[in-house]
Amino acid sequence: MSEFDCDLFVVGGGSGGVRAARMAAQRGARVVLAEAAALGGTCVNVGCIPKKLYSYAAHFADDFRDAAGFGWEVGTPRFDWHKLKANRAREIARLNTVYAGLLDGAGVEVVRGWATLADAHTVQVQTTGGVQRWRAAHILLATGGTPTVPDFAGRECVLTSDNMFDLEPFPRRLAVVGGGYIACEFASIFRGLGAQVTQIYRGEQVLRGFDHDIRAFFAQETRKHGVDLRVHTEVSAIARRADGLHLDLGKGGTLVADAVLYATGRVPNASGLGLEGVGVRQGNTGAIQVDERFRTSVPSILAVGDVTARLQLTPVALAEAMVVVDQLFGSGQRSMAYELVPTAVFTHPNIGTVGLNEAEARARHGAVRIFRSEFKSLKHTLSGNSERTLMKLVVDVATDRVVGLHMVGPEAGEIVQGFAVALKAGATKAVFDATIGIHPTAAEEFVTMREAVADQTAS
Ligand code: FAD
Ligand code: NDP
Repeated sequence: MSEFDCDLFVVGGGSGGVRAARMAAQRGARVVLAEAAALGGTCVNVGCIPKKLYSYAAHFADDFRDAAGFGWEVGTPRFDWHKLKANRAREIARLNTVYAGLLDGAGVEVVRGWATLADAHTVQVQTTGGVQRWRAAHILLATGGTPTVPDFAGRECVLTSDNMFDLEPFPRRLAVVGGGYIACEFASIFRGLGAQVTQIYRGEQVLRGFDHDIRAFFAQETRKHGVDLRVHTEVSAIARRADGLHLDLGKGGTLVADAVLYATGRVPNASGLGLEGVGVRQGNTGAIQVDERFRTSVPSILAVGDVTARLQLTPVALAEAMVVVDQLFGSGQRSMAYELVPTAVFTHPNIGTVGLNEAEARARHGAVRIFRSEFKSLKHTLSGNSERTLMKLVVDVATDRVVGLHMVGPEAGEIVQGFAVALKAGATKAVFDATIGIHPTAAEEFVTMREAVADQTAS
């Protein structure tokens, strides 16, 4: 008899946890998974999936307007927030069941309740039936993250992304604070659904970390979509009054809103797990520190996903989970590469990006060649929509490799996913040039850009 009740105990049934549990069980490991809330975690319940469904919903506003130029008369469209919420809730409930089925089918034992570490090999779960204990050969922490809101007068009046999906009533006037993925996406979504949206960002330009041309172009496009984007602006206090929430913007005056979304970042779910008692080391933001094999400072305990605060993306959590399973129950050859991870911001229009932004490329490679194309898409020649598209390639002069590819425009996420394969394969600009375009598409522009707009070494 083994001294352990299971080979792997997974804490957290989100993207990383479910993937690791299923794959480990499929390799014959005895796996138990604890989840305190709904299976599927952030992505399925309050992240990627419901967000993308709402983004689709918001897009119809443009589609109805664009249709007129193509001869359609659609009358005055009416949006039913309650219907969207109910349909989303039904779909998410279906996905929760699918996740339960996948785990069950793989032979994973699922325990519902809050898990804590008792020692390096023991997990305790507070279930409705009392505390249960498991001895595990390995423990994987995949507890995700949670929104964080700074301290200020009126903090209790604000919402986070977790609250936005079931918001009641629909906010006629919405203020969004922040300039990251979540702030930009929710500003676009609620604007599309008909709210008057003001986005407040403390810095010079939203989407820090993205290519500077992409940031500036997106800011211009989101304003065209009707988002009142105010940069260099901060909220000092919020007060609830009869006519709504009053946001004190200092020199920016007062803004009155029905709801205020704070999208000011996320923190790792690392407290209340018993990490200190067991000796699992954390960084200053609370993130669990791991090595390249996702081992914590306690050899039997590993961690993946948002709780390690690396790249907070679902496909990254999934890939990290696969590395862990391979380390514990496979060949041990698999590793994780954080370079060239493509990503999209599901704003209106979308942003898609893979590789280095221009500044990073100059810092790393010195001489880079930039190719940029800005245009009105064919569709908008008839729709009358003033939306424009931007595409940009960053090429390392020494090797001719395309080291960065960026886009703002419809379906940027779909388009950049394919090009990410090319960059991963080390495609040069010459290979891009030798690739025949698909006509007429927006994507063909990436293989038809011939004239560099800048060709210089880093200063
Ligand atoms: P999670 O999915 O958060 O799962 C952690 C789970 O652990 C949760 O279910 C939690 O209840 C459980 N848990 C925590 N502590 C305990 C405990 N002690 N005991 C038992 N259970 C516990 N990423 C993308 O790639 N694309 C997107 O479009 C995208 N959109 C997003 C939109 C929003 C609004 C948000 C908030 C995030 C979005 N993300 C997106 C990020 C993505 O959701 C996360 O990177 C991903 O879910 C991380 O997976 P995870 O396994 O680390 O954690
Ligand atoms: P981000 O870290 O991306 O952005 C946080 C924003 O809040 C930044 O603009 C930041 O400003 C601002 N901010 C931070 N603190 C304050 C403060 N005290 N006052 C005012 N503004 C502040 O976090 P998000 O919450 O948007 O998203 C978290 C992560 O989730 C993302 O990084 C991403 O990895 C993931 N995600 C992915 C999505 C996708 O793949 N499409 C969608 C949604 C989330 P500053 O720039 O000045 O620091």
